[in-house]
Amino acid sequence: MSRDLVELAKRRGYFFQSAGAYGGVSGFYTYGPEGATLKQNVEDAWRERFQVREGHREIDAPTVLPEPVFEASGHLDGFDDMLVECPECGESHRADHLVEDNTEIEEAESIPIPEVETLIADHDLRCPNCDAELAGQSVEEFNLMFETNIGPGSSSPGYLRPETAQGIFVEFPQLAEYARNQLPFGITQIGKAYRNEISPRKSIIRVREFTQAELEHFVDPEADEPPLDRVADVELTLYPADEQEREDGEYLTKTVREAVDEGIVHEWIAYYLGVGKQWYESIGVDMDRFRFRQHLPGELAHYSADCWDAESEVDGDWIEISGYSYRSDYDLSKHDDHSDDDFTVFKQYDEPTVVERATVDPDMSYLGPEFGGAAGDVADALETLAERDRTAFDAETVTVEVDGETHAIPVEKTGFSVDEIKETGEHVLPHVVEPSIGVDRVIYTVLDHAYEEDEIEGEARTRLALEPEVAPTFVGVFPLMDKDGMGETAREVTADLRAAGFDVTYDDSGNIGRRYRRQDEVGTPFCVTVDYDSLDDDTVTLRERDSTEQVRVAVDDLPDLLADLRSGDLAFGELDAPTPDQ
Ligand code: AMP
Repeated sequence: MSRDLVELAKRRGYFFQSAGAYGGVSGFYTYGPEGATLKQNVEDAWRERFQVREGHREIDAPTVLPEPVFEASGHLDGFDDMLVECPECGESHRADHLVEDNTEIEEAESIPIPEVETLIADHDLRCPNCDAELAGQSVEEFNLMFETNIGPGSSSPGYLRPETAQGIFVEFPQLAEYARNQLPFGITQIGKAYRNEISPRKSIIRVREFTQAELEHFVDPEADEPPLDRVADVELTLYPADEQEREDGEYLTKTVREAVDEGIVHEWIAYYLGVGKQWYESIGVDMDRFRFRQHLPGELAHYSADCWDAESEVDGDWIEISGYSYRSDYDLSKHDDHSDDDFTVFKQYDEPTVVERATVDPDMSYLGPEFGGAAGDVADALETLAERDRTAFDAETVTVEVDGETHAIPVEKTGFSVDEIKETGEHVLPHVVEPSIGVDRVIYTVLDHAYEEDEIEGEARTRLALEPEVAPTFVGVFPLMDKDGMGETAREVTADLRAAGFDVTYDDSGNIGRRYRRQDEVGTPFCVTVDYDSLDDDTVTLRERDSTEQVRVAVDDLPDLLADLRSGDLAFGELDAPTPDQ
């Protein structure tokens, strides 16, 4: 199936490997005219569901960011995959994928490198390219970021962003100001991300440049709750970690409300799984080939309280198409530590509170001569101690440790005091809830799940049963023949429908059956044919792709009818007396 789909995608202008004229380049794909519009429609649908309806706002950050951003985020150190090189042909492979493909192990990414080397030897894994033995080859960490230089010279390294999220996190201080420091608020971004994948594969499923649609929802973990009621009844197919670990593990079917009440999914994540399910379904993902899979304890990032992947079944495999992660305050605390800016929000109390605060005001004329160059550090240590444990100042001397040395200071020289202070609020680091959608994998899924082969009057046909909401070409307009005025009328209908905002293709070549087949393959939901009757009575035939049924409708009614068919307000079967045809 997949080869047929990839072949169709190329022939019909959905997607193809880039720079084919120069032999192609692995991991880079171009979306052709149909694919680019499908992608746009999927992104628009995502925007509508995850952003506009939720009241979030979108930003557009650069794709290149300077090195300190990725030092702080951890990507410079830890964004690695396991690389093993074939000693014979020199081809690079992802070691964890070789293990997954050739053993019973399903998630090898989190296995430590020495164990992966042992697995390669024990299972006598071989190079998929030339069949040479890989046992004994070392497995290396390979950083996936594309490096570049900002400006001439190499003094200012930068990286193509490996995810759109960092462009949001790093701007948090400005975004919080924009949001008037009021939690919760959500920021989205749709854009390119770059990963120098060791072995790109499966067409657009694993590529080196891809599109992400990410939402970072900043919440106060103590005060904010998700509006669960909005999606409480949405049914989720869940594959929790404990079910995955059981021999006869099963999927659970739970509503969002049940999943939260039964403690299966974190409430914020459950909320977005509900939103996500509604969205995937609306764009045509087959819900019988879809599940939410919880990360296993070994897969779960240490800072994450809960993480679920949306997975779809394509070509007999389950692939991760999106991740839903509760990221706690990890990202913001990293940037807060590494940068000069403040990544907290000031949370105002309803009423000011009076608190006692222990402070020191050390006598430097004593500390200076006594501790020399270490005097400043001793003063800092006293201040920290006063905040942490004021009872340490109850005795006559207080001891602090600086660089491994213990110092005793008379309390009277520390200027220790406890004062009453009025506080109007506090600084908090927001927590982050992150739905992260891989647009290319969603598109592959939508195409794969729409791909159908059937028979019409004994003739095989291929069709893409795309949802009208996302189909890149919405209507095909044909004259029966380009003569006797039918061509002119069809071109007028085409222009009118385009003016009304529809994506229309005009086609007058070949017999009408062939033209229908072509549009079936492109996934065009409706076709309009202008025939001799049209010239007399201003009606046309309107044909539906999936049923191949046709009805006659007035030309003037077409724009409204098509708008209702696209929005789902009208079903084709509700139109008057459809007649079976091809
Ligand atoms: P991650 O940050 O790894 O959780 O990725 C988020 C989403 O981006 C995944 O769910 C995938 O859908 C998508 N994604 C990650 N890597 C690739 C890739 N190499 N090619 C296409 N999509 C990807």
